[in-house]
Amino acid sequence: MSFLSITHVSKSFGPTTVVKDFDLSVERGEFVSFLGPSGCGKTTMLRMIAGFETPSAGRIVIDGEDVTDVPANRRRIGMVFQAYALFPNLTVHDNIAFGLMVAGRPKREIAPRVAEMLALIGLPQLGDRYPYQLSGGQQQRVALARALAPSPRVLLLDEPLSALDAKIRVSLREEIRELQRKLGITTIFVTHDQEEALSMSDRIAVMYGGRIEQCGAPFAIYNQPATRFVASFIGTLSLIEGIKGEGATVHVDGQPITLDAVPEVAPGAPVTLALRPEAVKLDASPDRINTLNGHVETSQFLGSVVRLKLSVAGGSVLVDTFNRPTAPPPRSGESVALHFGPSDVFALAPQEANPSALPAIA
Ligand code: ATP
Repeated sequence: MSFLSITHVSKSFGPTTVVKDFDLSVERGEFVSFLGPSGCGKTTMLRMIAGFETPSAGRIVIDGEDVTDVPANRRRIGMVFQAYALFPNLTVHDNIAFGLMVAGRPKREIAPRVAEMLALIGLPQLGDRYPYQLSGGQQQRVALARALAPSPRVLLLDEPLSALDAKIRVSLREEIRELQRKLGITTIFVTHDQEEALSMSDRIAVMYGGRIEQCGAPFAIYNQPATRFVASFIGTLSLIEGIKGEGATVHVDGQPITLDAVPEVAPGAPVTLALRPEAVKLDASPDRINTLNGHVETSQFLGSVVRLKLSVAGGSVLVDTFNRPTAPPPRSGESVALHFGPSDVFALAPQEANPSALPAIA
């Protein structure tokens, strides 16, 4: 049995259902992200795990205990919020001690445990400071220490990095992940930042409209998106319109494109092809399959890569080419031929038929 089971959980506020039949099993020590756009129900689901909201339907079980009706303060859960939520009038030491006192820990255990937590977050000297004397990143590390001090069974992180500036965000996400691995604590991380979710998670539950659209390892979510929404929400995609041919073929302006998998629609039906910028190559030769001709609309030098926007029949295609000082990229207006492998392109069914359906990609 998994460590955290969320079984068919729904949540309505009045007539509006904001979490719909959410079903997820999380293993002990796993780091799972809830990723989705604003308003998709991530925080509401997290708050139900914490016990701050009661599900309208379904059960939540932690380590074999059904906690659905257990009050928040008896669930043994640690939580870190987006805003630094530290007590401004308490020192760092007392902020961390607070959770231990609430948990009823004997007084003699508190000081050594606070010292241990300060060492764990790399701030052993800062126990006497007040929150206003800390940087944003330091405050979030203290918030993390406060959440972890009582040894919770599950750690819940609600966009804990979103208020920080970009550089600290990247270093802190590595620190959080390292700490989580070291402690082996089962963690749920809420974010709307796909890069955060991709870089930190064992698994990502991509949410849309209160439902899980797809749950899987970052590699699978990125490379085998199961729905139109996941395909477009994660990473960058170019869309080209085509017409379904025989078998696994789609025609774009008369050119046959071969794919590994296509939607089950009749030949002649419209099909949209979706391509990642890194999957498209420019060194096309006449005997290659999946070749399209076009010309360069724009060329953006980004340092390690050059992002080209190409105009082809059926749409525009973004292409990332590695910067090579000896081979300048093609310039605006230049004619180019591009190609891609059958496994590097997804085919999306017509939206009218099924807005989020994609064939399984082997
Ligand atoms: P964000 O990234 O913006 O925080 P989210 O995915 O975490 O978004 P939620 O905060 O879970 O989304 O909100 C989901 C929906 O539920 C929103 O439309 C929100 O307005 C609504 N909602 C949340 N809490 C309540 C409440 N207490 N009463 C009524 N509606 C609520």
